[in-house]
Amino acid sequence: MTKFKTSKASQFRTWGLFLMLGGMFTMILGTAGVLWMGENGRIFLFIFLILGIILSLGSTAIYAFAGVLSTSAVTLHCPECGKKTQILGTSDRCMYCKTMLTLDPSMATNGDEKQKDM
Ligand SMILES: [Zn+2]
Repeated sequence: MTKFKTSKASQFRTWGLFLMLGGMFTMILGTAGVLWMGENGRIFLFIFLILGIILSLGSTAIYAFAGVLSTSAVTLHCPECGKKTQILGTSDRCMYCKTMLTLDPSMATNGDEKQKDM
């Protein structure tokens, strides 16, 4: 997770969207399978519909989880760009300039973090 150069909140949104699109695409594929294969495609429709529903539920769960997390997020002004951003957990990236921010003084790195990640 730490390899992504975005804040956790936007990562959750990205994954939620990805799963939601994946779920819809899977259900469309299942429906297309019936059109292509006729009767034999029904088992595909069934499998793909189930998969699509699971993916959609997963994305709903991620959105809900992100919502719960964001209520416990700490809001502060980013020292780098001055914009208001949210921190999930003890360390997270600024939503705007992707600077690594931490609430734990022992984890503060004076900007070394940026070089390590490159
Ligand atoms: Zn910033």
